[in-house]
Formats: sequence, C-alpha cells, structure tokens
Amino acid sequence: MRYISTRGDAPVLNFEEAMLTGLASDGGLYVPETIPTMSAAEIAAMAGLPYEEIAFRVMRPFVGDTFGDEEFRGIIARAYAGFGHDARAPLVQLGPNHFLLELFHGPTLAFKDFAMQLIGQLFQAALSRRGEHVTIVGATSGDTGSAAIEAFKGLDNVDVFILFPNGRVSDVQRRQMTTPPETNVHALAVEGDFDDCQAALKEMFADIGFRDHVKLAAVNSINWARVLAQVVYYFSSALSLGAPHRKVSFTVPTGNFGDIFAGYVAKRMGLPVETLVIATNQNDILHRTMETGAYTKEGVAPSMSPSMDIQVSSNFERALFDVYDREGAAIAQLMDELKSGQFAISQGAMERLRDIFASGRASEEETTATIAAMHARTGEVLCPHTAVAVKVAEEHLGSEPMITLSTAHPAKFPAAVEAACGIHPALPERMADLFAREERFTVVPNDLDRLKSLIKERLA
Ligand SMILES: *Cc1c(COP(=O)(O)O)cnc(C)c1O
Repeated sequence: MRYISTRGDAPVLNFEEAMLTGLASDGGLYVPETIPTMSAAEIAAMAGLPYEEIAFRVMRPFVGDTFGDEEFRGIIARAYAGFGHDARAPLVQLGPNHFLLELFHGPTLAFKDFAMQLIGQLFQAALSRRGEHVTIVGATSGDTGSAAIEAFKGLDNVDVFILFPNGRVSDVQRRQMTTPPETNVHALAVEGDFDDCQAALKEMFADIGFRDHVKLAAVNSINWARVLAQVVYYFSSALSLGAPHRKVSFTVPTGNFGDIFAGYVAKRMGLPVETLVIATNQNDILHRTMETGAYTKEGVAPSMSPSMDIQVSSNFERALFDVYDREGAAIAQLMDELKSGQFAISQGAMERLRDIFASGRASEEETTATIAAMHARTGEVLCPHTAVAVKVAEEHLGSEPMITLSTAHPAKFPAAVEAACGIHPALPERMADLFAREERFTVVPNDLDRLKSLIKERLA
C-alpha cells in the first residue's frame, strides 16, 4: 500500500513512513493511492466479532507490510486494553430510528483516544524496530494534550511534551495531563495563551537544528494513521444494526473533518452508508461550504463545544482531492487561493460532495436546548459536541437508522451540561480519584529559547 500527497508533489511513502512523517513536504496530506474494498460477504463475516478483530480486518490492507499479522494484532490489543467498556464503542438507542455511538470510554473520555492509543502503539513498534527515539511536542487548549499523554506515557522510544496555557485549561483537563507519573511525560504550563503555545510549537518545527537534534515528531489530526483508526467504529456500529444488509447514515460532530472523513473511507471501502451528515457549531465553515460552494474563512467564535471551534478544516482537503479526481495540482491551487481567505469549489465537485455529505449547524442556544430536551425525553446526558450532532441528526432522520457519534463524556464539560439540564455529570468510577492524584508539571515563561533548552535538558 502506497501513500500519495493531496497536492501531488511529495515523495510516495509506505504506511510506516506516512505515519512517521505526518504532513507531506508539499504541504499536502497523505492518502492511500487506492482505497481497498471489502465485499458484502467479507463485511457480513465480521458481524458479532470483538471490536479488536474488526479493527484488524478493516485496517490490515492499509498497513501493507509494515507489520506482520501477529504484531499488528498485538498493537491493536494493547491500544484498546485500557478502555472502560468491553464493546469499546457501544451503541445506545435515542429514539425509534436514532442511535448514539458512545466513543468516550477511552482513558481521556473522548473519541480521540481511539486514534491516539493506536498511534502510540504503532509508533512504539516502528521506532523500536528502527532503534530510534522521537520527541513528540504538542500544544493543546485542553483535550488533545491529554489524549497524547495517555497514548505515549511509559513508551520507551518516545518522550512527550505538551504545552498548555497556564491557568487557562479546566481542572479536569489539567489533571489529566499532570497526574500520569511516567517519566517520559512532560506537562509544560506556558505563561501565555493557546496561540502562544501553538506559535512556540510552530517555531520549534521551523528550527531545523532543534528539530533534528531532538528528533521532533507531531501526531496532529492530519496524520493518516489517526484517520485510519477511526474507520473501524463506522464498521462495528453499522454491523450491529444489520450492515451490510441494511444501510445506515451517520451524523458526526465535526471540526477538522478527520472523524467524518473516516466515515467516508468506510463508505468507499464498501460499507453501505446512505448519508454522512456534517454537524457544525456556530463555527460553520463546512456547513456554509455545503450550502454555497464557497469555502470562506471567518474568525473563530469560542463556543461550548470547543473541540469544534475551527477556522479552517484541515482534513477537508482529503475529500476535495477525491472529488477533484485526485488532481493534486488543482488542490494545491485551491489551497493557494485560501491564503487570501477563500476559494470556490467547482460545480462538478460540489455535486459529488452533496451526493455523499449533508450538513447542518447548531447555535449555542440550540445546543443547550438539545441537552435539556434529550435529558427530559430519554434520560441521556449529552456533552455539548454530541448535542450539536443530535440536533442536526434529528433534521436528517430518514428510513434507515441514523447513528450519531457521541464524541466526549459529559463529565468533561460539567459547567455547560449542568447549566443546560441541571445535572452535574460525574466522572466514571475508574477516574473518580483524579482529584486525589499528585500533579507534576513545570511552569515556563512564554519564551521560545527557554522552552527549547528545557526540552533539551529533559532529554539529556
Ligand atoms: C476533536 C473533536 C471533535 C471534532 O472532530 P474532527 O475530527 O476534528 O472533526 C468533536 N468532538 C470532540 C469531543 C472532539 O474532541
């Protein structure tokens, strides 16, 4: 299996190289040269299998010869062993034809664990074979940092540094990053805001001397291996509802388009999916694009579903690549136009997008009202991201079952949830002692040189 860039001008890589590289050298995103397909019989044969076995069968063709079968099975088993639910991604019923796919049973209570836990094990396996060590540095406004720490803690061939804005993440978010005792975890509280953290990270990657010295690596949402891990639960949930004999639709609370793109990959692989519904909050660039055909940047308005507060949606480029007949030069040109704020999508490409995707948006008021209404009607307590999707899903219910992705546990957003429905959501039992655990982090000034020398000292 070979991987090519969406902008057509970067080296062709294998799975291992694409995973370790992340962003392509031409600024594009890596995608498989061809999408492998599964027959209806192969899909049907997965019904009733454990999540890990479905994961193995769905992902195997993408991995090529990077890992042997037994090695890859071991990687998957270790990735999901720490989840708090045997089904890993269980379904619950919300209404007559509407189901919630609970993706929040991982160690940090959000769906990003599905991808991060797998990528941690994939990195470790590849690096130990190569005899290499890398330094993962990430900047977080709260959630991704803890998912990365949980994924890489205790792994021999990786150190993980997470920069977060001191005093500006929630207590739960901070404690999730600062309580793991493993010595390869370094939580750095930067005296600045999230933009400062991100700017520092960007400059570290731009400093080639530093980058090579510490073997800097990133695991951001454009990494192909992260998308791949997310394809699995589209299969497992659809199988539970009768696929491949019955079609299903999905509604996905969307920010960077990684999660819903995984649904698109599942459909291309042969899973019978009627519609993929993009649900956005008030930061609705994708919904506006689907309505108008113009992809136009606007400022970000902070919302109660912060993981969907985006200005541009990076993984959307992968979908555009396909609907532009995989012409890298065309995508490179659109992305160049975006530098001045917008581009227009051709009519043919828009038609193809609308064949596959629908979209909707939820305002802050609608999100709050949905949390309240669902609690009253069904007893389910939704996190704000999930509530955005439930609201949009209800506008798209059809004859086939609708599966709405529930991307975070409500206890991660207690204030918004309590304000909406009066329930203070409790942390699951396995985390109940989070506030009793010892914290360990370093406060650092917002100063690039100090940050770089601290990282070098820690690695020495
Ligand atoms: C990251 C995230 C999303 C958005 O996912 P994308 O892959 O960026 O579209 C939605 N909900 C939660 C809770 C998240 O953490």
